[in-house]
Amino acid sequence: MGTFDFLKELQGKVLDAATYQLLERNFKMQSENNRLLQENNDLLQQRIESLVQEIEQLKDENKRLRQEQLNTNSDLFYEIEGLIWKKRSEGGYESKPRCPICSNRPTLHQFPPGGKMHWCCSSCDATFDYAGPPEL
Ligand SMILES: [Zn+2]
Repeated sequence: MGTFDFLKELQGKVLDAATYQLLERNFKMQSENNRLLQENNDLLQQRIESLVQEIEQLKDENKRLRQEQLNTNSDLFYEIEGLIWKKRSEGGYESKPRCPICSNRPTLHQFPPGGKMHWCCSSCDATFDYAGPPEL
């Protein structure tokens, strides 16, 4: 039974001392309960604000790391006439280019096999004009 229903029931009645004391105690407990709920609400609000701030920091960091990764990759890969060539750690470039469309940069294969007409991607089926590795 809610407080309002309880009060409606009491309307027009004479209260004895014991009922009055019970009511008074009940209201004090409810008031205390409301205070605790408000405290809890304030704590949750602070926590939300802190988490929102943390999310913003992580977004910034993620953006920075993506940019860093892109820069690192551009040191590793070299694009010429629409083909991506990966630099070898010992110098020069790999003998086959990487797919400029697929984000995981799979190695392309020659088509027809062994012929120097096209480079093909097995992942996305894209076809490119043949070109040899860039000059050093
Ligand atoms: Zn591809």
